Amino acid sequence: MNLCDFAPEYIRSIQPYQPGKPISELARELGLDEAYVIKLASNENPLGTSPLAVDSMINALHDIALYPDGSGYELKAALSNRYGVAPEQIVLGNGSNDVLDLAARVFLKPGAAAVYSQHAFAVYPLVTKMIGANGISVPARDYGHDLPAMLDAITPETRIVFIASPNNPTGTLSGENELFRFMERVSRDVLVVMDEAYYEYLPEANKPDSLKWLKQFSNLLITRTFSKVYGLAGVRVGFGLTHPDVANLMNRVRQPFNVSSIGLVGALAALQDAEFVQRSYALNRAGMMQLTDGFRKLGVEYIPSYGNFISFRVKGEAANTPVVYQWLLQRGVIVRPLGIYEMPHHLRVTIGLESQNKRFLESLELALNELN
Ligand SMILES: *Cc1c(COP(=O)(O)O)cnc(C)c1O
Repeated sequence: MNLCDFAPEYIRSIQPYQPGKPISELARELGLDEAYVIKLASNENPLGTSPLAVDSMINALHDIALYPDGSGYELKAALSNRYGVAPEQIVLGNGSNDVLDLAARVFLKPGAAAVYSQHAFAVYPLVTKMIGANGISVPARDYGHDLPAMLDAITPETRIVFIASPNNPTGTLSGENELFRFMERVSRDVLVVMDEAYYEYLPEANKPDSLKWLKQFSNLLITRTFSKVYGLAGVRVGFGLTHPDVANLMNRVRQPFNVSSIGLVGALAALQDAEFVQRSYALNRAGMMQLTDGFRKLGVEYIPSYGNFISFRVKGEAANTPVVYQWLLQRGVIVRPLGIYEMPHHLRVTIGLESQNKRFLESLELALNELN
């Protein structure tokens, strides 16, 4: 036996997470100019970052010899104010993925279980399996979460249910009433993680009043992120809102300085920049129309999406999907293959700037012609 054979089987069997291909990597591989490559693969904000946030982060660079404020006092105060929760209900994370990981480390152990949907965000099985807990994947309904079936899938060992709404990579949304019914019925000794990474991209009419439910349900954890609409994916800041007792446990297993000083000030400034959020939202709505119109003209089937991305189906056999993916790469357009999500016929594209969406659609048309 060598050292690595002693790593637990549940660690060795984890499938590595496949991130979107970085621009620099593709440019290097194909000898392309980086400026020519467009990355529509990781649901990043095509407008970049709030200028207010950029300024405050540049200022904060002068103090990076110092450890960050490990309690995140100011950011928590601002979030508390914004969302009407006590600072004791907030858990800051190195991205919201960190918050998901903290929840798993607090409530899961070998023999325990977590429930999530088929085609749901890849981090749920990841954080479950690295604890040695069992992941229970519930078949999706029309690519969306089947909440009644997820409720039925809960076993006495289940400690967490992960719900992504909107879900990545399908873009599906669970209705507010359906979510509320789920909360009413689920046992109070199961933590329900409502992952709302794309909440700010929802039209007002579709935004569930989930924050209000925190008062009623002590087993609810809502996660949000600064990576998407706020354009801070690179500095890694997310947060969870939950019952103070749950937050207290999560904060005990949190690395003391899990959010960087740059991330803390960037998030604080981004939170105040309503204009940037509004502009990002509007661009996304317009881009979503542009892409869905384009798909319809090309006869491409897509899954209607509530996020800043959309998944579409490549016709014919599954082997066509990597062909189209590679073809787009050759033309400097990076999208995301969804094989690891059990969607081998689909590719996911992030809504970009108008010109990027246009180039993507033109490249896709050529790629599809190539297949015929
Ligand atoms: C992008 C995303 C996140 C956020 O990840 P960060 O760690 O905050 O960058 C969380 N959940 C879902 C479903 C996502 O798509």
